[in-house]
Amino acid sequence: MSKAVFTEILKEKKLKITPQRIAILEELEKNGHSSVDDIFNRIKPKVPSVSLATVYKNILTLQSVNILKSVKTPTHKQKYEINIKPHVHLFCKICENLEDFAIDTKEFQEYCRKQSSYHCIEEVSVLLTGICKKCAK
Ligand SMILES: [Zn+2]
Ligand SMILES: [Zn+2]
Repeated sequence: MSKAVFTEILKEKKLKITPQRIAILEELEKNGHSSVDDIFNRIKPKVPSVSLATVYKNILTLQSVNILKSVKTPTHKQKYEINIKPHVHLFCKICENLEDFAIDTKEFQEYCRKQSSYHCIEEVSVLLTGICKKCAK
């Protein structure tokens, strides 16, 4: 995605277009799952005026309009990613690597709704924990 695409996304959500928000989205696109500290440390050299509090505030704003999603892992701090397509996460308990795994979450969601006592299910957040191939060697 380019800067122009991120600008469009922010416009569509009626958010002000700021260099910080663009920088956050660019970093997340490049590096994937990142914590607030990771993002702050990476954009600091590019946007020197930025503070950790501003990054945090912007991330929460972007999350509130669904541009970003938070990812919870057993050991890491809260991580964030751009909400592009539905997927679940694989988590290696040895190297703590977090990987995307594409599945049809809509189908899974529908299955769970039918089997459960719930009227509707709004969000799927699944973390599969195991050992990656590299660590198995
Ligand atoms: Zn591993
Ligand atoms: Zn992910």
